[in-house]
Amino acid sequence: VRLSEAALPELPAAVAVPRYDRSQIRAGIVHFGVGGFHRAHQAMYLDRLLNDGQASDWGICGIGVLEADRRMKQALEEQDHLYTLVLKHPDGTLEPRVIGSIVDYLLAPDDPQAVIEKLADPGIRIVSLTITEGGYNFDQITREFDASNPEVQADLVPGALPRTVFGLVVAGLALRRSRGLEPFTVMSCDNVPGNGEMARKVFTAFARLADPELADWIEASVHFPNSMVDRITPATTDEDRALVQREWGIEDAWPVVAEPFEQWVLEDSFGLGRPAYETVGVQVVDEVEPYELMKLRLLNVGHQAIAYFGVLAGYTYAHEAARDPLFVALLRRYWDREARLTLQPVPGVDLDAYTAELVERFGNEHVRDTLARLAAESSDRIPKWLVPVIGARLAAGGEVDASAAIVASWARYAEGVDESGNPITIVDRLADSRHAAALAQASDPVAFLRDESLFGALAAEPAFTAPYLRTLELLHSAGARAALTALAGEPA
Ligand code: NAD
Repeated sequence: VRLSEAALPELPAAVAVPRYDRSQIRAGIVHFGVGGFHRAHQAMYLDRLLNDGQASDWGICGIGVLEADRRMKQALEEQDHLYTLVLKHPDGTLEPRVIGSIVDYLLAPDDPQAVIEKLADPGIRIVSLTITEGGYNFDQITREFDASNPEVQADLVPGALPRTVFGLVVAGLALRRSRGLEPFTVMSCDNVPGNGEMARKVFTAFARLADPELADWIEASVHFPNSMVDRITPATTDEDRALVQREWGIEDAWPVVAEPFEQWVLEDSFGLGRPAYETVGVQVVDEVEPYELMKLRLLNVGHQAIAYFGVLAGYTYAHEAARDPLFVALLRRYWDREARLTLQPVPGVDLDAYTAELVERFGNEHVRDTLARLAAESSDRIPKWLVPVIGARLAAGGEVDASAAIVASWARYAEGVDESGNPITIVDRLADSRHAAALAQASDPVAFLRDESLFGALAAEPAFTAPYLRTLELLHSAGARAALTALAGEPA
């Protein structure tokens, strides 16, 4: 049966469905970037609250900013904004649930003014974001807003209809201010270090370029809570659509699949209230940073550690690499001898257990997370997640062998061909310049490190380039497995 509100009673008993009356839900959250992750995470937590009879004025109105989001708008609209979330347990058990917390969806390119009006609706009290790391549009080294971006420039032309998330959100705030309404809270849920602080910085910087008084008001009155979010959510495939159809007879244009693990650590800083997230498994805390550094430096960099070496060695899926002892040795070395030494104490978390669980999570074969997904947009990931670890270890006079090996594996990966001679498609906003830099390694071994906007001064740091070049040379002369073997055999 085609998924819809009317079809819910016909679904098999194995599929959990909303127990609440969706016609009574009013939107209180506007969400930018309704992709896989939002639907597996924040929308799922809200669905739990709604099932508990809470939060009926905190429904979600999704917003798509990019033309590419038209497909999501259509898929959701045709099924009353319902979709199936399928959790895939390591033992193969499937846990399906229809999520009902998204109640509306607007595509900004079709009608930016409607989006701005929505943002100014007094019922909207939170604007949340999963717009990817690149969506924040800041220089990776200076961490300042990149005002030279042509789309940003276009949005700054007086009277222009906004096209970027910056133009839209700031126009929404301006309208609220002019109507004497309190501003909404801006809640970033992206994997950006200090995501709330970064959101504050980039939205305020944009506003300052448009209207300094408005920027002052935003700075003084908008809350930007930090958060740490976690649940591995691969991109939906046709296989997943077929699975939902085959297992439960549901025709769903865009289901979402994810691992069972979930974590959301959220700073309690909201201007106009928030759903009672703490009652449905969210850790609402005063200070997110220790958790976030733990997650970005252990989980996210862990993904980068297996992604490039894995693709070069001929693996397709994360679980294939994560079950290979050579790859586990790289992870352990990176975690235990480098990354963990840069973390603050993390209240209530046992890091030995956390890293052991990461190996299990990465090894979940049913999630079928691809190394290609993990290797995408590296230019937005390595500089934000790993370069700070390297900086901290170098400053402390510590070793960086595993970190350097991970960067070297990216440099080799960006050459665009694996060890069997198969082409690698590089998905990265800087794909062309990364590829060119990787090819230049033939005559200039540290060519890949020379872009200071990505690596700062690492190209001129012998304590880094020595282990980096050791791995890079081995990758060229003997391949990924040999490079990992050498690293595993190096004395502590
Ligand atoms: P996705 O590709 O399914 O969705 C990304 C969404 O962001 C799309 O709606 C896209 O249009 C929008 N977007 C991209 N660039 C934008 C821009 N410049 N301006 C406005 N919107 C933009 O990806 P996803 O799996 O949902 O992941 C999104 C983000 O969520 C990640 O980048 C990460 O920061 C965070 N996250 C993801 C996972 C995961 O496992 N997938 C886990 C933790 C955190």
